[in-house]
Amino acid sequence: MQNYLEQLNDAQRAPVLQKDGAMIVIAGAGSGKTRVLTYRIAYLMEQGVDPFNILALTFTNKAAREMKKRISQIVGASEGKNLWMGTFHSIFAKILRFEADKLGYPNNFTIYDTQDSQSVIRAVIKEMMLDKDVYKYKQVYSRISSYKNSLITVKAYFSNPELMEADAMAKMPRLGDIYKSYVDKCFKAGAMDFDDLLLKTNELLTRFPEVLAKYQNRFRYILVDEYQDTNHSQYLIVRALSDRFQNICVVGDDAQSIYAFRGANINNILNFQKDYDDVNVYRLEQNYRSSKNIVNAANSIIEKNKTRLDKVVWTANEEGTKIKVNRTMTDGDEGRFVASSIFETAMNNQVGYGDFAILYRTNAQSRAMEDALRKRDIPYRIYGGLSFYQRKEIKDVIAYLRLILNPKDEEALKRVINYPARGIGQTTMERLTVAANHYNRSIFEVINALGKIDLKINAGTATKLQNFTLMIESFQVLNQTYNAFEIAEHVTKKTGLVQELKKDGTPEGIARIENIEELLNGMRDFVEEQKEMADATGSLAEFLEDVALATDMDNDKGDEDRVALMTVHLAKGLEFPYVYIVGMEEELFPSGMSMNTRSELEEERRLFYVALTRAEKQAYLTYTQSRYRWGKLIDAEPSRFIEEIDSEYLEYLTPITEHRFKPLLDADIFDDIDKSKLRLRKPSAGNPPKGPTEEQLRKLRRLKPVTSDTSKNVDLSSTNLNVGSKVAHVRFGKGTITKIEGVGADTKAEINFENGGLKKLLLRFAKLEVL
Ligand code: ATP
Ligand code: MG
Repeated sequence: MQNYLEQLNDAQRAPVLQKDGAMIVIAGAGSGKTRVLTYRIAYLMEQGVDPFNILALTFTNKAAREMKKRISQIVGASEGKNLWMGTFHSIFAKILRFEADKLGYPNNFTIYDTQDSQSVIRAVIKEMMLDKDVYKYKQVYSRISSYKNSLITVKAYFSNPELMEADAMAKMPRLGDIYKSYVDKCFKAGAMDFDDLLLKTNELLTRFPEVLAKYQNRFRYILVDEYQDTNHSQYLIVRALSDRFQNICVVGDDAQSIYAFRGANINNILNFQKDYDDVNVYRLEQNYRSSKNIVNAANSIIEKNKTRLDKVVWTANEEGTKIKVNRTMTDGDEGRFVASSIFETAMNNQVGYGDFAILYRTNAQSRAMEDALRKRDIPYRIYGGLSFYQRKEIKDVIAYLRLILNPKDEEALKRVINYPARGIGQTTMERLTVAANHYNRSIFEVINALGKIDLKINAGTATKLQNFTLMIESFQVLNQTYNAFEIAEHVTKKTGLVQELKKDGTPEGIARIENIEELLNGMRDFVEEQKEMADATGSLAEFLEDVALATDMDNDKGDEDRVALMTVHLAKGLEFPYVYIVGMEEELFPSGMSMNTRSELEEERRLFYVALTRAEKQAYLTYTQSRYRWGKLIDAEPSRFIEEIDSEYLEYLTPITEHRFKPLLDADIFDDIDKSKLRLRKPSAGNPPKGPTEEQLRKLRRLKPVTSDTSKNVDLSSTNLNVGSKVAHVRFGKGTITKIEGVGADTKAEINFENGGLKKLLLRFAKLEVL
């Protein structure tokens, strides 16, 4: 395919043809940044650059695979295989495998996933006898994670009073001690967590100049996609590796920076020009993905952000249809609307279900969508939920496999030492843990030394323990000759895992056996695939690394014609002809947790920009009037982001008056939730508030009585109330009703409370007692 350069416009071709030097491509969504990166690699290879000397860092492993495939089509399959391409984590995990001993880790170190890390942190909090309601393990984990991503090691932490004070202010004065103990435990277990893969790479490159030189020499050409979302740790790695040759090409869009909450630093893109001697900046303006309507609507949204680089995005694509906005009563209705709209669109346009995506802000929203799709028999796939590798039975098998490579791996050992049951109890485990801490050895080593140390464990238990370590050691011997699939098959039989599930006999047990079979099938394929690679053999070590870093997206074979369901964060870089963005409500999107500062709100807006720009032909925005959140049914307000789109690009499917935003007064009806979180919509000078008038509301209600399902869940006995009725409220005390308005689930009462003054309450929330 020689004419690949002709598949680029002039602006795209320029960075592709600049073989050497530092360059940045800053451009809006869908303008071909990823295409530029892909073609640039093909071009470099065509110019004689050895693929071994090219490093390309992508956002998902799937993106890397797709790029590789495309490049292989251009330059030939055998060459493409040798490229170093993948996520930061997967590439640097590989490098760390070679170099681990320099940092005091075994080469077969385990990679702890989030669950493993959190479980270690829970254990530390317990050991330190801290209050687990104050030291919430997930919160502790994310704080430690952000320290690591800012390269704040334990030592650096303790020499920084500001950090310690910040944690003390957050009521966690012992955070540093937890951090230290967590790091020690991981190190002792020969384990790195996800953040270590970057932190330790940085350590490696700074502490060992000869190692740095080796990789600088190796990666003469470096390319980074989605550069706007690199964090400090990733930034430093790229900086160090590219320092010698300065052949670096990064592409990104500041308007799509959506990982600040995980430490991504938008300044990496803004400061790129200062970081290298001679930087060429390229801009792309033409969007090839979306219709005019979508591109223009997206532009009108992102313009509202103050912090942004000025960019032009236009498209020569057709006008397309307007963005459709739909309101429903409940999230169940929302699901049904989306499912039937997908069904009809697929029928009318004769397209497959793979052309559709449903995007949401939070994973919890997928349930209503799933229910509705299932009822309609529409095939779908959820990304980013509980992934295959996180299922219990799969984690059990994997834990055995991890132990084979690294018997110090404490999380794996604890998981399976007594599964299937071998009569090894909790007390025994506690004694072993204490001894392991005391002798500064792993539990595995302690078991192997049982005869030589003084430990209160009876002979029977000791034999059981030693049988376990003997079994693992016998697997280790086989692992020297078996490939990943062979060893896993052996393990599932010998450990009794499958027999245990067979004994169970329930449908769940059978499903679990099927999953294990699926795992084995996957491993067989993996081994076959690896055999074709230049530097792989299909070993267990390779497989485990793949699994540890696999995201749900990576397992997507792409050959299924299913509706894709995922969070907006996951959808970055992807595209679909038809996109439904659901839950377009205040407090949900924008998220209620991210509305405290302008910068948080701007990140939410960028997230919405990302969502909208995934659509090629048609975008839908849906929201519901009421939704269960935090266990309560709340009245939802349509998202400000709908209102922010220029109305000429929108088409309201339900009558426009129903989409109007609530007037300021209504903030008062949320007596049950934190009012400081509510947005008070100030009417701007000269413009009346946007809400419908009382007259309009009344008319509307007469036309369309409220028939929300939610009313079933609500005590409406209080609707017998009249003006003048005496009532009592938990917080405001006794009061007298002065006015009643609305009907059904929407009924509100104005009440004059003895303690609280005049309040307007939505009756279905207010839980009034009639006196
Ligand atoms: P995002 O910001 O969402 O990551 P992007 O800038 O990386 O988007 P691409 O994914 O590379 O954009 O391109 C968007 C779509 O436009 C893809 O389907 C791509 O194949 C197509 N495309 C890009 N450039 C051209 C071109 N010159 N001619 C035709 N199609 C193109
Ligand atoms: Mg892209």
